[in-house]
Amino acid sequence: MSIADLAMDQESWAMMVLVRCGALTECDRHEGVYVDEGIEQSEIYKYAAIEYKKSNDLHPFESFRDMTDTVKMKYEEHGGNDICSLCFKHIDD
Ligand SMILES: [Zn+2]
Repeated sequence: MSIADLAMDQESWAMMVLVRCGALTECDRHEGVYVDEGIEQSEIYKYAAIEYKKSNDLHPFESFRDMTDTVKMKYEEHGGNDICSLCFKHIDD
């Protein structure tokens, strides 16, 4: 597996956790655009820790810290919008 594939897996894993724990919801009209549900960040990491333990080393991370760093990065990348920015543009038109 190449490093690029590994990074992709880590990011997919982090996104899966963010969606499943209810932190982010993908816009039903715009794939890859997420709405931030505004849950407590501690809830995200609690859920991520459970998933990490449950995965029995089948997760793509080197360490627990590696996992929380990736989740944090993806949350910062996709979070922070209480509405889909693309849908919002259409309201403006
Ligand atoms: Zn949208």
